[in-house]
Amino acid sequence: MEMPVPRDFVLARRAEVIERLRAVLPADAVVSDETELVAYECDALTAYRCPPLAAVLPRSTAEVAAALRVCHDLRVPVVPRGSGTSLAGGALPTADSVIIGTARLTDVLEVDYDDRLIRVQTGRTNLSVTGEVEADGFFYAPDPSSQLACAIAGNIGMNSGGAHCLKYGVTTNNLLGVTMVLMDGTVVELGGGEMDAQGLDLLGVVCGSEGQLGVVTEATLRILPKPEGARPVLMGFDSNEVAGACVADIIEAGVLPVAIEFMDRPIIRITEDFAQAGYPDCEALLIVEVEGSEDEIEEQLATIEAIARRHDPVELRRAASADESAAIWLGRKSAFGATGRVADYICLDGTIPVSELPRVLKGIRDLSEKYDLKVGNVFHAGDGNMHPLIMYDANGDGQLEKVEAMGAEILKLCVDVGGCLTGEHGVGVEKRDLMSHQFAPADMEAMMRVKDVFDPAWLLNPAKVFPLATSEARR
Ligand SMILES: Cc1cc2nc3c(=O)[nH]c(=O)nc-3n(C[C@H](O)[C@H](O)[C@H](O)COP(=O)(O)OP(=O)(O)OC[C@H]3O[C@@H](n4cnc5c(N)ncnc54)[C@H](O)[C@@H]3O)c2cc1C
Repeated sequence: MEMPVPRDFVLARRAEVIERLRAVLPADAVVSDETELVAYECDALTAYRCPPLAAVLPRSTAEVAAALRVCHDLRVPVVPRGSGTSLAGGALPTADSVIIGTARLTDVLEVDYDDRLIRVQTGRTNLSVTGEVEADGFFYAPDPSSQLACAIAGNIGMNSGGAHCLKYGVTTNNLLGVTMVLMDGTVVELGGGEMDAQGLDLLGVVCGSEGQLGVVTEATLRILPKPEGARPVLMGFDSNEVAGACVADIIEAGVLPVAIEFMDRPIIRITEDFAQAGYPDCEALLIVEVEGSEDEIEEQLATIEAIARRHDPVELRRAASADESAAIWLGRKSAFGATGRVADYICLDGTIPVSELPRVLKGIRDLSEKYDLKVGNVFHAGDGNMHPLIMYDANGDGQLEKVEAMGAEILKLCVDVGGCLTGEHGVGVEKRDLMSHQFAPADMEAMMRVKDVFDPAWLLNPAKVFPLATSEARR
């Protein structure tokens, strides 16, 4: 995807960089073997690959700072990496870059139930944060479907969301503070232990900044008491557009379910084959979950089901047990993985006003016919956060280019109906060259000036977010 870097240059540079890194870090913190570096050549956007010069796996903020000082001195670009589950190529290296990975930054530093917070090193996986506090009746709300694997580092990088973020907000709404190392090795603390720290909201700037501003090593996260109960209801419809209209009506009615998830026929079938979740045979399925006391659940479900009935559902079924609820969610959370078993796919991530769901779903179907590429839709419908999965054969001639062209048209459609290019997966390399469709030159300039302040030499996470020519000119 990028300009190839000559192999002689890579080898000479690698030797120099590794020698300097080894001088300041424990021996096992530096990965330099070419076969081991293959593990870092891509993230979950596997269509694009490039091995880095080296990878560093530090155990502390001090080790991250030492590695960054070396890279800063040598003017070596650095790619921060959590678990590498980005679907936007956010953690894709360039051939002249060093990866700084958080895999060994996994300590829990503090749990404070009185102030409802947990402080962790950022390599900790999302699900293990809840794992740390759930026996005491608490949980960490943002729940990406990748939560078993993805790290808090990447969640902060991408401002990640998940099925239950409709009610609880995404990462930025649950992040209280960070420790971050700037490219020159300076350690900064942003935010603190409460929701709104003093001064400019630099924490808000960092959350979702895709590794462009610094390497986040520690995070203070808000934890919440677990709700008394929760119940999902399955709603099957005979078209995507009708299901989309039902979502729009639920949101318009002012009810706030904890989650409204959408799956269309291709995804229902693929997921059901894999997870046996008990999904009905229909064109479009909504999973709507509410929570609270039994009375609260009953009241909310009565309103939501009455709205659904106005759209002639082919199925309307509440989960009857905890096992059934768990199966429903296991299915939804395995949908991407299940799709990966049957096809190569690119997962898009555009956000639209919920009222535009029927129109955009129709637009996606038209584009699927135009490009003759199969599309499955599975997404956080309550937030209007769409995830069309374009399925293709990665070995087919010209297929990737066709997928990219179709993906670009879908994302432009999202922008054109008043939405935006990304909801939770970030821009990465995937949407970098579409940024100018959404942002005017003055907006792009304002964002680049923010990067200038944090990373004046433009060494952090190169070739992402900003169109290539613009960012190259900045370096
Ligand atoms: C099957 C599947 C399901 C998914 N479902 C969801 C979902 O429901 N919701 C959702 O939001 N996403 C989802 N994703 C996308 C992905 O899991 C998220 O973007 C996740 O937050 C990435 O975390 P990570 O640790 O893997 O980060 P990485 O992929 O390693 O990195 C992501 C970004 O964060 C930056 N970064 C990493 N570490 C640091 C650091 N220490 N400091 C600063 N920047 C850093 C990277 O440079 C990169 O730009 C899914 C992905 C897959 C494969």
